[in-house]
Amino acid sequence: MLGRMCRWLRILGFDVEYVSTGISDGEIIEMCRKTDRILLTRDRELSARYGKSVLVESTDIDDQLRQFVAIYSPESGLAFTRCTECNGELQRRSGEELQGLLEPGTLKSYSEFYQCEKCGTVYWKGPHYRNMEKRITGITGQNENTA
Ligand SMILES: [Zn+2]
Repeated sequence: MLGRMCRWLRILGFDVEYVSTGISDGEIIEMCRKTDRILLTRDRELSARYGKSVLVESTDIDDQLRQFVAIYSPESGLAFTRCTECNGELQRRSGEELQGLLEPGTLKSYSEFYQCEKCGTVYWKGPHYRNMEKRITGITGQNENTA
């Protein structure tokens, strides 16, 4: 349920982990403490037990992100540095390095590519990226264009 919020926060450069089910509150807190991560939860009790947590009440993604950035403001330059799938760090790649991984048309049309060093997912600055950028600017009131 908070998976979407988690993905957007990764796009903004936050090191967030999404815990779904099957582990106890105590274990979640322990894990967040160890890695110094911010905990996103809908559970009021759990939130009260861990200082660095955000109690999410809205179901609207824009509201959720606004609430979050009002508490933890995003550092400029960190947007688009993490993989939305696995939280790994993205590395700049050239088109040649990605031959065979992307459609030739994509390689020809764009010049900036990034690849996750953990899971290998490839990102590029296409229309999808521009849309995300616009949305982020709307939410944070900052221009996150680092190019
Ligand atoms: Zn990844």
